[in-house]
Amino acid sequence: MSETAPKVIIAGSGPAGYTAAIYLSRANIPNMMFEGLQPGGQLTITTDVENFPGFPEGIMGPELMEKLRAQAARFGTVIMPGKVDAIDCQGPPFKVTAGEETFEVPAVVIATGSTARYLHLPGEDALHGKGLSACATCDGFFYREQDVVVVGGGDTALEEATYLSGICKKVTLIHRRDELRGSKIMQDRAIEKDNIDIAWSRTIDEYLTDDNGMISGVKLASTKGEDPIEVPCTGCFIAIGHDPNTEFLDGQVELDSERYIITKPDRTMTSIEGVFACGDVQDSVWRQGITAAGSGCMSAIECERWLGEKGL
Ligand code: NAP
Repeated sequence: MSETAPKVIIAGSGPAGYTAAIYLSRANIPNMMFEGLQPGGQLTITTDVENFPGFPEGIMGPELMEKLRAQAARFGTVIMPGKVDAIDCQGPPFKVTAGEETFEVPAVVIATGSTARYLHLPGEDALHGKGLSACATCDGFFYREQDVVVVGGGDTALEEATYLSGICKKVTLIHRRDELRGSKIMQDRAIEKDNIDIAWSRTIDEYLTDDNGMISGVKLASTKGEDPIEVPCTGCFIAIGHDPNTEFLDGQVELDSERYIITKPDRTMTSIEGVFACGDVQDSVWRQGITAAGSGCMSAIECERWLGEKGL
């Protein structure tokens, strides 16, 4: 398949992109993937993944992505380094530019994911998998019966804090203002938990670590001029939002107010026929590896059927 011109270009890797690639290749549709600047996506910066079905002992995030990549390559997906810089959605054919090259293809699958926002404090990058996380559903289980903190005051932070309160001993929600942004119902759910405390008008000034480089606490500054405090914890969940990776689209497919791609209800077709989107770039709600993989599968099947219907 690698010598045939691609019919579909997949922008982005990760569970959605790799799954779309596996399904397209097995349907004998020549396809090429640009892996993006972080091949494998967000799961490559987590450690153990215990909620992806099929791995009863768990699997490391990078290893899982390596397996998905190998599976896509085995069936003929041409995997290219680098990212898609632009898609001209006046088509088909659609013009996809990656670096110096421009390809013309009848269909495109966008699987560029989203990027969790972090605080960008000194030493933060080294703490991934060492107590720092942006996903309570993924990593909360590792902190059972331990003390954790959650940063943020929106629905995600409230949802993560509530979820963690069922697993952890104590959860401290750290919010930079004295009023939460999240919805009333989510606020009520969190506030009624006995083991959730809220550190109002506080921001993390510094991550504290033990001799093994694991998070052992956080130092909190006050946004109201009060003295700094330290909160001991083994886990720190940053829940200050995600940014969907849609800048390169330059508004050519319809986006929602948060810049996620809008897909047709129960489908993966975007506002442009022949351009499909799957995974976190079109999902601000579920954001799981397995849901991304599921929507990657949908994209591939929908794309295959669409190409067939159009005789492309
Ligand atoms: P969000 O609503 O934008 O809230 C982000 C929170 O993080 C805000 O409280 C913000 O503080 C805080 N924040 C941002 N940057 C910060 C920084 N550098 N340092 C400290 N705090 C910072 O994001 P989200 O909670 O991820 O929600 C995104 C969307 O998804 C929302 O529309 C939400 O309703 C929706 N959502 C819905 C559900 C649900 O219905 N089940 C669950 C999750 C998310 P400020 O308040 O001071 O700005």
